[in-house]
Amino acid sequence: MNHDYLGKDDPYADIRESVQKLCADFPGEYWRQLDAERAYPTSFVQALTDSGFLSVLIPEEYGGAGLGVGAAAAILEEIQKSGGNGGACHAQMYIMGTVLRHGSEEQKQTYLPKIASGELRLQAFGVTEPTSGTDTTRIRTTAVRDGDEYVVNGQKVWTSRIAHSDLMLLLARTTPRDQVEKRHQGMSVFLIDIREAQGKGLTIRPIRAMINHSTTEVFFDDLRIPADSLIGEEGKGFRYILDGMNAERILVAAECIGDARWFIDKASAYAAERQVFGRPIGQNQGIQFPIARAYAQTEAADLMVKRAAHLFEAGVPCGAEANMAKLLASEASWQAADTCLQTHGGFGFAEEYDVERKFRETRLYQVAPISTNLILSYVAEHVLGLPRSY
Ligand SMILES: Cc1cc2nc3c(=O)[nH]c(=O)nc-3n(C[C@H](O)[C@H](O)[C@H](O)COP(=O)(O)OP(=O)(O)OC[C@H]3O[C@@H](n4cnc5c(N)ncnc54)[C@H](O)[C@@H]3O)c2cc1C
Repeated sequence: MNHDYLGKDDPYADIRESVQKLCADFPGEYWRQLDAERAYPTSFVQALTDSGFLSVLIPEEYGGAGLGVGAAAAILEEIQKSGGNGGACHAQMYIMGTVLRHGSEEQKQTYLPKIASGELRLQAFGVTEPTSGTDTTRIRTTAVRDGDEYVVNGQKVWTSRIAHSDLMLLLARTTPRDQVEKRHQGMSVFLIDIREAQGKGLTIRPIRAMINHSTTEVFFDDLRIPADSLIGEEGKGFRYILDGMNAERILVAAECIGDARWFIDKASAYAAERQVFGRPIGQNQGIQFPIARAYAQTEAADLMVKRAAHLFEAGVPCGAEANMAKLLASEASWQAADTCLQTHGGFGFAEEYDVERKFRETRLYQVAPISTNLILSYVAEHVLGLPRSY
């Protein structure tokens, strides 16, 4: 089924086609086996790297394609639509944005060309902590300046892909919360060389989770890092990571659109083919309507994703649109997932159909990278002007 409402006007039609061809070499069995073993999709990620798809957001002067967030969104949507899982590597596309926007020229020259070529992987981002949760200003991980170094202590949780990264971006407190004027001040961002740090104060422990996401908890125990690991100015890290969050939300929303389309295609095909009571189950409106509704919700959410991407590329504020895109797309994909499973009846639970795997995978996006409630409270406070709730 062709869901591409832009048809010939889609500026990313060629990119989509190339991604579809690449993904055809990584069918459901590939992802299913990795899921069972909780293994990393190394060959898939390598193929994406070799094709240049992971470096589209890096400017040409640093070895990337210099494209906008719309192109990256098209790539991730196609991966999800093929039945794969871009969560294994999507962060390689956008975490570097913090270095690009706020790093020194020397840091950009040192890291960006190697990230573009895939020689270096920067796809781990340590923000979430077990005790502070979404209240990021209460993080307890600290980085204390000591001569030419910072000494890092603390703990992160849900730090994904770190075991498949060379570098990580870390948010840590450099000034205690009670010594700053505003609670978001006094946090800083560091680019840590994981290869150097492991065994010298950095410990990584995998978390066995509902989905195959290579996620971990990370412990910092007097880890010494060079002072030039700091990105931008000390104390301004929270603002730097906020800058990157709109891109992340738009890209995750695009992944949800891809998931939703995979579920809708699967459900439609099965409904047309499965015969019960002497006719296809898809002849019953009780089966048709939820699929049609999921399709309508997906198309509506996709418009918001495209609008957010357009505003982002134009360099105008898009916090509301990026948040709403992520909210609507994650709800559309979940609705499509539930409908697809229901349409498949008992077979929806069988691993070989991939429905249960994708069902588990797409559920994540109502919790991470930001949960639905937090988006709603953003819209209520910052768009509708309602009183601040926390
Ligand atoms: C598989 C996976 C991968 C992840 N990868 C990363 C990663 O790579 N790097 C990283 O830093 N983090 C990562 N995360 C963490 C993720 O971003 C957080 O789980 C998410 O932001 C929610 O935070 P929390 O788990 O601390 O929930 P909490 O903040 O404890 O919230 C729990 C629930 O309460 C709700 N809630 C909290 N406060 C309010 C409020 N004021 N009003 C209404 N509702 C509220 C939330 O919406 C949520 O549903 C990952 C998580 C998962 C599960």
